[in-house]
Amino acid sequence: MSGLLSLESVTARYGASQALFGVSFEIAEGEVVSLMGRNGMGKTTTVKCICRMIPSGGLIRFAGQDLSRLPSQRVARLGVGLVPEGRRCFRDLTVRENLIAAARQGPWTLESVAALFPRLGERSDQIAASLSGGEQQMLAIGRALMVNPRLLILDEATEGLAPLVRQEIWQSVGRLKRETGMAILIIDKSLRELRSVADRGVILARGRDVWTGPMHALNADIASAHLGV
Ligand code: ATP
Repeated sequence: MSGLLSLESVTARYGASQALFGVSFEIAEGEVVSLMGRNGMGKTTTVKCICRMIPSGGLIRFAGQDLSRLPSQRVARLGVGLVPEGRRCFRDLTVRENLIAAARQGPWTLESVAALFPRLGERSDQIAASLSGGEQQMLAIGRALMVNPRLLILDEATEGLAPLVRQEIWQSVGRLKRETGMAILIIDKSLRELRSVADRGVILARGRDVWTGPMHALNADIASAHLGV
């Protein structure tokens, strides 16, 4: 496996308040990495730095390129597909229009997204605003896949969803891992599900990476010290 994404001593601030004090980790091609930590420890801020939604210090490299001076659209075009916190999509567009708006050449098409999420195929002419929360989340993931990413980032993709829908989302993540070999960075509160899908974990505490290792090495002591579970 070769390095696809690497963060080296990444720092970030919101005005006068510093949120990241030095975050370093790597994701290899085809690897699933979970980014964990209690609330407010810097997970979403790290994602915003990778996607160039906020300025950062330190070094971020993706597929051999330094991301630090690129605008966020260029990062998407390089192959980073983001499913942002809050499942954003264009509410007044149909499912199909939402998917097409994000499309880049590659194996992910309207048909392959509908094969992963049949409900999106069934509702392709429906306005996004009329979808259930779970369907909107599937649409947000579908949009990120239409970018044909080399790295998919899922920020709290199961947040606030009913248990059955969460299960559907986890199953689709499992399929992406098994069937596409896509690299995935995943943030979620369910440690149990993360253990079943992620190869490696990175834990953030107060804007720093404090633990990195294979998921099977994340024992009860580490979980209790850094995740409060
Ligand atoms: P959560 O699980 O609650 O989403 P998180 O680990 O993703 O947490 P971040 O959202 O990255 O945490 O927040 C890291 C720190 O930056 C927190 O102290 C937070 O209050 C602060 N922060 C986040 N967004 C902003 C913002 N837009 N303006 C100012 N401070 C912010």
